[in-house]
Amino acid sequence: MRIVITGGAGFIGSHLCERFLQDGHEVVCIDNFITGTYANIVPFLDCPRFTLITHDICKPLYVDGPVDAVLHFASPASPIDYMRYPIQTLKVGSLGTHNALGLARAKSARFLLASTSEVYGDPQVHPQAEDYWGHVNPIGVRGVYDEAKRFAEAMTMAYHRCHGLRTHIARIFNTYGPRMRLDDGRALPNFMGQALRGEPLTVYGDGSQTRSFCYIDDLVEGLVRLLWTDCAEPVNLGNPEEVTILEFAREILELTGGKSQIVFCPLPQDDPRVRRPDITRARQLLGWEPKVPRREGLQRTLDYFRRIMHAG
Ligand code: NAD
Ligand code: UDP
Repeated sequence: MRIVITGGAGFIGSHLCERFLQDGHEVVCIDNFITGTYANIVPFLDCPRFTLITHDICKPLYVDGPVDAVLHFASPASPIDYMRYPIQTLKVGSLGTHNALGLARAKSARFLLASTSEVYGDPQVHPQAEDYWGHVNPIGVRGVYDEAKRFAEAMTMAYHRCHGLRTHIARIFNTYGPRMRLDDGRALPNFMGQALRGEPLTVYGDGSQTRSFCYIDDLVEGLVRLLWTDCAEPVNLGNPEEVTILEFAREILELTGGKSQIVFCPLPQDDPRVRRPDITRARQLLGWEPKVPRREGLQRTLDYFRRIMHAG
């Protein structure tokens, strides 16, 4: 198979590149490095089945030769990143999705969209199942990301219905693991970086808001399984084990053995109060559920951050 991955130099995208190469496929990675890291793909550059195309997917993309699947993962993804690049985020979710769908259609390839739990906004239904339509503030600071992904889902379904394209929508919940950026502003890299530097851990609000963290290897397995189904409906992929952010900060502090304090900072606008995936559909359709316990996933991620901080 020949697989195109937009955002292939990012955190999730680079793990997808690695997985498809390991499975013996050819990978074409498309990235403009707005939030991605060249180091993420350096290990693949020697592989003859790997190609890098430096390109902004908001501009049309022509790829020579056959393509079996297009996985659209390009987008700033952490709140700090999409608030820093609001217009680029809206463009890559709209124009970028249109171009990626156009490529898939031209090649009669499958298409998989990286959607997000953010389409549920600050949810009034808990846990979140795929039939919940969400509670999003379109003009709030998170709206640029949430609405771009909601548009991307609508566009994907339109290509499926109008052109009969084989499309898939993964609603990805908070995922973590090696190759996250230490400075992406998300809770996990912030807490680990702060603990390792001996700085206070910054919990926003009173820390009673919840999230559910999925280890990257579990997510990648779910994505690969979804790609080869006939399911065009959205599928939640995430770990249903829910934790408050304050507990999460304490877990990380304990794991690092650090002596830092926890300090409380203002809660950002529209920060979802709760988040936990209902993964019934993924269980039934894909026979999938997360396997990596949080402590183990956190330890592997901590080892990674220790290594890169040590390296410079
Ligand atoms: P990331 O920032 O590490 O990766 C995104 C990649 O897309 C980067 O390499 C970036 O340079 C690239 N990119 C952005 N705009 C581009 C453009 N116009 N053209 C080409 N490349 C572009 O983020 P991530 O955490 O790996 O997220 C990947 C995808 O998964 C995103 O679409 C995100 O919305 C989705 N997602 C991630 C999570 C998560 O917990 N990490 C949760 C839900 C959804
Ligand atoms: N958060 C925090 N301290 C930080 C970074 C984030 O308390 O240094 C909180 C944030 O307000 C949110 C949760 O942790 O409630 C998860 O934030 P993250 O940016 O990881 O992702 P989100 O799930 O909000 O997209």
